[in-house]
Amino acid sequence: MAGNFGDQYYNTIGDYLKKRFGCKVIKLSLDAGFTCPNRDGTKGKGGCIFCSAEGSGDFASNIPDQIRLLSKKWPSGKYIAYFQSYTNTYAPVEVLREKYYQALEYPDVIGIAVATRPDCLNPQVLDLLSELNKKTFLWIELGLQTIHENTAILINRCYPLADFNHAVEELSRFRIKTVVHLILGLPGESRNDMLDSVRYVSDKQIFGLKLHLMNVLKNTKLTEFYPDRIHIPKKEEYISLVVDALETVPPHITIHRVTADAPRHLLIAPEWSYEKRSILNGIQKEFKKRGSYQGIKESYVIQE
Ligand code: SF4
Repeated sequence: MAGNFGDQYYNTIGDYLKKRFGCKVIKLSLDAGFTCPNRDGTKGKGGCIFCSAEGSGDFASNIPDQIRLLSKKWPSGKYIAYFQSYTNTYAPVEVLREKYYQALEYPDVIGIAVATRPDCLNPQVLDLLSELNKKTFLWIELGLQTIHENTAILINRCYPLADFNHAVEELSRFRIKTVVHLILGLPGESRNDMLDSVRYVSDKQIFGLKLHLMNVLKNTKLTEFYPDRIHIPKKEEYISLVVDALETVPPHITIHRVTADAPRHLLIAPEWSYEKRSILNGIQKEFKKRGSYQGIKESYVIQE
């Protein structure tokens, strides 16, 4: 298949992990009980306008429970402890150390992924991450969402693009893998705005990229924009946008997500958001139809 991604048209993190570890590797979604500086008033209040305040469970029992369930389906699988909820470097460094090392005590946990904000990586945290990076497989996820400052203000992100650039440089200096989150469909953004964000981060020293479909969730500020001030795409339009985006991403960058999982009880729009299998199949079909693959338009130029 063109692009050399096995039976896919893009470089999925699942395939990368399988090649690297020789088995199925599954992420364990963890809520370690942290909060976020954009919620507690340190950086902002109320959080980003799309962010739901729900956590996802109790850390202590989370790892063994999840492994017990998942090992029924993948008996020889291994796991990455994914610190997912809120800002997972936003705590005293000794608390972070305890939580990260606690996760590594489980023999089938072969690595750690940490989701955080670029403005929450102080020198002590970076030292700890560097130490971990030498001991285990590690990546850090940075929630950027957009490179455009006017959108960042609108969504109440509460840090500038310069913080992201600095964080990527610092993580790269410590040879720590960086994964960037972007959202496709933020209010006020054109197709070109979104593609420019994808291309901008793809030019950085990053390991991976997550493309999130913009879901409108109950109990978020974003509901105030719905339905009049936010464009909700049709499924086909979203699929075409994802393929346009991936065509500009260099093939060495791993793709961690091309849609989004919304809790059913919270989702308002788009109503097709649950149809994950159909979205993924649609992306494969669109690549096939175009005769293209990830990176085919690597020389895409950011629009001025
Ligand atoms: S999206 Fe992330 S940074 Fe924004 S409020 Fe939610 S947890 Fe905080």
